[in-house]
Amino acid sequence: MSRSVMMSELSWPEYKRRIEEEDAILLLPVGAVEQHGYHLPLGTDWIMATEMSRRAAERVGGIVAPPVMYAYKSQVRSGGGNHFCGTTSLDGNSLIEMVRDVLKEFARHGARKIAVIDGHYENEFFLTEACDLAVRDMRYDGITDMKILKMRYCEEITDEAINTTYPNGYPGLSLEHGAVFETSMMLHCFPHLVDVSKISDDPPADFPPYDLYPANPDWVPPSGCLSPAHGSTAEIGKMLVDEFTGLVSRALEAEFRGAEQK
Ligand code: ZN
Ligand code: MN
Repeated sequence: MSRSVMMSELSWPEYKRRIEEEDAILLLPVGAVEQHGYHLPLGTDWIMATEMSRRAAERVGGIVAPPVMYAYKSQVRSGGGNHFCGTTSLDGNSLIEMVRDVLKEFARHGARKIAVIDGHYENEFFLTEACDLAVRDMRYDGITDMKILKMRYCEEITDEAINTTYPNGYPGLSLEHGAVFETSMMLHCFPHLVDVSKISDDPPADFPPYDLYPANPDWVPPSGCLSPAHGSTAEIGKMLVDEFTGLVSRALEAEFRGAEQK
């Protein structure tokens, strides 16, 4: 049997053994099916959340559960909006209930160390609610030793990484959609999924400080990227991937392996 860290590739006895005997940390990547401009695939958010989870799992003795690919609706000011063809989203309640159910299933099979690793900006408080309700449900079921860690894989970005990635000024995390971070990381991990010849020349988005319902698609650059991806390289991607793998691994070690963070 392989030493894969991917749950889908394990037999059930091997999964059970790792949870029970190796005290494996179970990672649940959550992403989105969302446009990422002309040059990146629709799966970028769940693909990267899964890849960052896989790399962290290899360091800390983890198992990566199949990702939650569908996500809360893309918003104009953070993901370009839900109107793009291919951006295929869930209502908030659906996401909450799906993640809540899956977390309780993990618990039912004995997992007590769980990490929810998010790769899509708009998921944040729906995952908060899912974790909160799941832990409450478990308590009612008599499970009192559960610990769930939730974070974005890019929860913390050092100034050094920002300055290297954006020497001419950082647009901020919410405009980092289909831009230099994601493009560089994809170039490092999955170069065959990136078409750099299709990187758009659209200027960065310039949003007013509010949202509208229904959304106004005219606010969004035609490509769907919120800031230009020019300057993306596999080298920058490796730096970011290493940084975020370290960030996630340190968090898991601190909470689940008794190590001091940093
Ligand atoms: Zn993204
Ligand atoms: Mn996203």
